[in-house]
Amino acid sequence: MPYAHRVEPGTQVRLADHDTRDNGGLDKEAGQARFAELNAELDALQEELAAAGTHSVLMVLQGMDTSGKDGAIRNVMTNLNPQGVRVESFKVPTDEELAHDFLWRVHRVTPGKGVFGVFNRSHYEDVLVVRVHELAPERVWKARYDHINAFEAMLADSGTIILKFFLHISKDEQEQRLHEREQEVGKAWKLSAGDWRERELWDQYQTAYEDALSRCSTEVAPWHIVPADRKWFRNLAISEVLVDPLRGYRDDWQAALDELSKAKLAELAAYRKLKEETGR
Ligand code: AMP
Ligand code: MG
Repeated sequence: MPYAHRVEPGTQVRLADHDTRDNGGLDKEAGQARFAELNAELDALQEELAAAGTHSVLMVLQGMDTSGKDGAIRNVMTNLNPQGVRVESFKVPTDEELAHDFLWRVHRVTPGKGVFGVFNRSHYEDVLVVRVHELAPERVWKARYDHINAFEAMLADSGTIILKFFLHISKDEQEQRLHEREQEVGKAWKLSAGDWRERELWDQYQTAYEDALSRCSTEVAPWHIVPADRKWFRNLAISEVLVDPLRGYRDDWQAALDELSKAKLAELAAYRKLKEETGR
């Protein structure tokens, strides 16, 4: 059984059915050991992705405040070569962004070939916070599920491997994490009164997430529900979801690299031959 739950396309998600404290039957030590193995593998896969330059990866991270989006990026990306990773964070849109369609700011920062892209929040905010706060009329945000599916299908057709993660924490766990931020001097910089305000809308957000995950989990861009109350398990579950499909591309990437190696060697051989013939 995979540690995260893959939302099968066409199924209706009920978040209450998914345990936020799941540990996959592992203790922390065993989980961290497994995580280290997967991380080493992810490192190797990223190197091949970057060198082969035939595909890109797009990892989308969503979750309530304190669900661990930043922590996941810090931990899961640790071993990757920073040159090939691009993290994009989506904040409240600027006036210029608002003057365009909602995918405008997103499309311009999608990862190019060879790049491992990470979205810390994403175009999904436009069917989450926008819906919950009524920042756009219902007919506008409702039409976005189809727009998102078409957009992601187009990215996938262009060689983007898309993996989406919902970091699932409980309301109690969030309360505890918010209090920690207040109590630990070193964490207070993370505080935001807005997080407490948003918390009052917990149920509305859960409903909005359920619809987004149900409407927009597709074969080419599946959603994964990650039990995220335990940080070590969250990291493990995410790594597993990343490594598993990327392994499937390894032969292709290796073949592309072999071709590249052959071409480079042939070029060098031709140069040497010419040099010998002309005596220069
Ligand atoms: P943080 O992730 O804590 O830096 O906060 C970013 C804030 O930007 C969150 O409160 C998001 O809900 C908000 N945000 C991101 N995208 C949008 C959007 N498209 N419309 C409105 N608010 C957004
Ligand atoms: Mg925040």
